[in-house]
Amino acid sequence: MDKLLFEKDVPGSNAFTLGLSDVPAHDCAQEMDAALLRQTPLDLPELPEVEAVRHFTALSHRAYGVDDGMYPLGSCTMKYNPKINEWACRLPGFAQIHPDQPAQTVQGALSLMAEMESMLCEIGGMDAFTLQPAAGAQGEMTGMRIIKAYHDHRGDTGRTKVLVPDSAHGTNPATAHVIGFDVVEVKSDADGMVDLHDLAAKMDAQVAGLMLTNPNTLGLFEQNIMEIARIVHQGGGLLYYDGANLNAIMGMARPGDMGFDVVHYNLHKTFATPHGGGGPGSGPVGVKAFLEPFLPKPVLTKADGGYAWDWNRPLSIGKMHAFYGNFSVVVRAYTYLKALGATGVRQACQLAVLNANYLRVLLRDAYDIAYDRICKHEFVCSTTRAMEENGVGATDVCKRLLDYGYHPPTVHFPLIVHQALMIEPTETESKARLDAFVRAMKTIAQESLQTPEQVTTAPHDTVITRVDEVRAARNPVVAAQQTEA
Ligand SMILES: *Cc1c(COP(=O)(O)O)cnc(C)c1O
Repeated sequence: MDKLLFEKDVPGSNAFTLGLSDVPAHDCAQEMDAALLRQTPLDLPELPEVEAVRHFTALSHRAYGVDDGMYPLGSCTMKYNPKINEWACRLPGFAQIHPDQPAQTVQGALSLMAEMESMLCEIGGMDAFTLQPAAGAQGEMTGMRIIKAYHDHRGDTGRTKVLVPDSAHGTNPATAHVIGFDVVEVKSDADGMVDLHDLAAKMDAQVAGLMLTNPNTLGLFEQNIMEIARIVHQGGGLLYYDGANLNAIMGMARPGDMGFDVVHYNLHKTFATPHGGGGPGSGPVGVKAFLEPFLPKPVLTKADGGYAWDWNRPLSIGKMHAFYGNFSVVVRAYTYLKALGATGVRQACQLAVLNANYLRVLLRDAYDIAYDRICKHEFVCSTTRAMEENGVGATDVCKRLLDYGYHPPTVHFPLIVHQALMIEPTETESKARLDAFVRAMKTIAQESLQTPEQVTTAPHDTVITRVDEVRAARNPVVAAQQTEA
């Protein structure tokens, strides 16, 4: 392993000097409680600039991102993020304004937000949007609170349950649970679709709503969506659309037309803004008109030829995020949508679907494809029985892919597929890139049959090899000095 920054310390060297203060001289130390003052100087490494730069550049080479290559992480839509988005969000009129500035001084930013809200309405067939939520999961929380507020407002307080299909993303049941609902699982049928009989049996006067992803996490479009919506609405429930998979239908079909009452999108998936590593995201929530009074406040309104924030929202669920959400992420997604235009959005969707189906068909000989028919933006395959007899599972395939220079697909998810590998190429991969990925996957399948230990002991070419992933997640040791607990 490389040395730590602290171990590269060159006493007396320096990469940074504070400028002279331009505020009146003021001896803070005299005013502060002596007990709060540091007695010994802070132990910071001293390095020349060139060494500090090389240190962090070397570390960055160990990471893998969409700028390095294909990143087929199913359900996460790791498409390329065009650099023009970064240019736009750094324009001083967007980057250097303060959220507390009077509205009349930031009309440009507010009009961008208003236009973004209306574009999102158009794409989803919804009537109003909030840009506040900072992630898909927070969008879910916002949307489910709106659904709860709606039932409560009508005095319909006996609705304590939320229906969630067994193929759902883990955030769906987690959200429903955190809001205080009891989660009721709805089974999938043999085709990977919501089982309509099971749905009808579980839909009753205690159900607040259904949370659904369409296409679902198997990459399959819920063909019975109109019937699903009818069953839920007839029982007095509302439909929540987890729009994290919107890339599969944007420009082609609209959740609002399918009967969904509340939706969230992930700007950081579908609309090409950066994600991963817990960075800022954006999960706007859209509603049908009858739910508009419940949106988080403040709400952007048109006033005196300009835009203003309306705080007078008695039915609002309140605030979900400081100020108005992650504004710079919204600017990036706005730029993406403007660059593509209506036709481009539709084409991106069509190519995402084409790319997924191309891979599905080419990988069919080497892997088992769960639900092998036309898919949307992603599909799920598994290791074959012969591979498993050699001790090779989905995780091993993922680890071996690292040696071939790929970020692995989503693994062991959805839970209803054994040894699942969920592959989402996105529209931004060329045919040459897709073909190279197929070659790597086929080589690994061959290795699994001929030299399985090459796969089960992978990765071989990375800085570290296998880690205990459960322990790493539950008991992370993030400081190098710290010894293991
Ligand atoms: C990514 C994803 C989410 C959660 O979005 P975050 O921004 O990570 O909170 C929810 N549902 C589905 C289907 C997803 O793929």
